[in-house]
Amino acid sequence: MKNRKKRLIILLFDYDGTIIDSVNLAYKIFKNIAKEYGLASPKSIKHFVEFYNINFYESLLTRGLLKIHLSKFINEFRQPFLDYEKKMKIFPYMKETIKKLSKKAKIFIITSNLSDVIESSIKAHKIEHVSAVIGADNGIGKVNAIKLIKKRFPKAIIYYIGDTSGDMIEAKKAGVKTIGVTWGYHSRLKLKETDPDFIVSAPKDLLKIID
Ligand SMILES: [Mg+2]
Repeated sequence: MKNRKKRLIILLFDYDGTIIDSVNLAYKIFKNIAKEYGLASPKSIKHFVEFYNINFYESLLTRGLLKIHLSKFINEFRQPFLDYEKKMKIFPYMKETIKKLSKKAKIFIITSNLSDVIESSIKAHKIEHVSAVIGADNGIGKVNAIKLIKKRFPKAIIYYIGDTSGDMIEAKKAGVKTIGVTWGYHSRLKLKETDPDFIVSAPKDLLKIID
């Protein structure tokens, strides 16, 4: 069939660990505030990233964070990112890749960070072509955020691109295709446990999948 309309492709990006290299900062801030919320301080980054095996906040709730403290915790953990946004580095070739991908797809960021923190960061790093950022501000997890996009674009082919097992689990629950990236918080081996549709080890590999 000629002139068949191509289906819209939507790429939902995670931010921390997928676009920006933030694990050291996140670990440092977390260690500073953990005690205040009755959480044990992780011994190393290796222990810290285990919190991301499932949704980060769910993980903290199982480790002793009280639900009534959750929104205060999110603010105290995420706001300091603003002070360091210029010091954090975008992963090499990520900006260019997003630019190229934006010619083939509509791009959103779905993050467990705060929307205004990420909006400020993408501005500071001059990341363009992002249609919108959906953050953890209103308490909705990634599953619900992804479902919102699905509802808005019912005919689109949707991928979630993230660096943790938790991301892959949530995206699968929401019913979209999953792409795990190996340059962030979790290793290829760890990501494999959640059986993503694709695993990539360099940003440019995303261009091969989204064609
Ligand atoms: Mg991440």
